[in-house]
Amino acid sequence: MEDSDADRALGSAVSDQDASGQHTREVLFVDLASQHGALSEALHDAFARVLRDGSFTLGGEVEALEREFAEFAGTGEAIGVGSGTDALHIALRALDIGPGDEVITAVNSFAATAEAIALAGATPVFVDVDADTLLMDLAAVEAAITPRTRAIIPVHLYGQCVDMKRLLGMARSHGLRVIEDACQAHGASREGLSAGAAGDAGCFSFYPSKNLGALGDGGIVTTSDPEIARRVRLIRSHGEDGARAHVDLGWTSRLHGLQAAFLRAKLPVLAEWNQSRREVAEKYAAALAGVPGVRLPGVVPGAEHVFHLYCVRVANRDSVRADLARLGVQTGVHYRTPLHLEPAFAYLGGREGDFPVAERATGEIVSLPMHPFVTDDDVARVASALAGAVGHG
Ligand SMILES: *Cc1c(COP(=O)(O)O)cnc(C)c1O
Repeated sequence: MEDSDADRALGSAVSDQDASGQHTREVLFVDLASQHGALSEALHDAFARVLRDGSFTLGGEVEALEREFAEFAGTGEAIGVGSGTDALHIALRALDIGPGDEVITAVNSFAATAEAIALAGATPVFVDVDADTLLMDLAAVEAAITPRTRAIIPVHLYGQCVDMKRLLGMARSHGLRVIEDACQAHGASREGLSAGAAGDAGCFSFYPSKNLGALGDGGIVTTSDPEIARRVRLIRSHGEDGARAHVDLGWTSRLHGLQAAFLRAKLPVLAEWNQSRREVAEKYAAALAGVPGVRLPGVVPGAEHVFHLYCVRVANRDSVRADLARLGVQTGVHYRTPLHLEPAFAYLGGREGDFPVAERATGEIVSLPMHPFVTDDDVARVASALAGAVGHG
């Protein structure tokens, strides 16, 4: 767990000085305390509103967030659900994708992307990634299409969108559905196409450390197709069609009123926070530009990257991380194991060597502290610590 999104000490307080007077304040990987401090009043108001109103699962706050998020994403509708994983799973079910169907996705994502496909009863088909951006390789997607393929799930990894123009052209010519995994890409776009608005459906996570995070779990499905929206609404709540009947097979995956109210307090600042993340990324790029042995993340022209993660590549990754930890710099690895080599997906028969680009990258990637409150001093400390650690290598 230590390296996944789901495990981080989400901004715990740390001491500022050691006995020798060196500044030992840790450079935090994620800093939710600063985020919530800045919005404390709005978050307390949100809590008070829901307490008064009493709508704890769905209700007025969820409906308002759904309208506001649909407008933010540029889609006709948004439907709040229990998590990003459920958003993906429910979107697949809403498109009637299940047993016997193949769904193509990237081999280097969070496990949830492939889990959702498997939970829907379909078969995940992995493809390798581009060596520069680590986004899914679209030539490999085309090569992976079979008569059983029903859908493609592009993953907008680290906050940078896949080339949706090209992907949609490919999907259309083969009659395939496209569900965007936009769990790391709230507010991202590429060549004018917004994350979650280009495919048949978009899936977002509100896990606390995401660019837009709840104070717990949550997720949302975006779509401009009224039929998909209708099915998603049914499935997230036991297929209940009003008070009349259970017309579809669903489960309990309702966004909570409290989480919706908290998210409504944060949504108005999301664009500003994304801009701050981009500025931090620019500062990292400038500070690390001449450092030998550090490969910077590939950013594609025309992409409005939202830097959920800032992921560089180095040789001797684990020793570099250990050096950084000693110098008070928190880091992560996203992700340590390509999905075809994860035990949960062993039944698919993947073997080492199947996806050489992703396999190589998983041994080199290290995610640096990235959030809207990273300071110039933090960037300087991270850059000099990293330069030193790579030099040791
Ligand atoms: C976080 C994430 C998910 C899953 O979201 P949860 O809300 O944690 O279920 C899915 N895909 C990607 C790429 C993610 O980063």
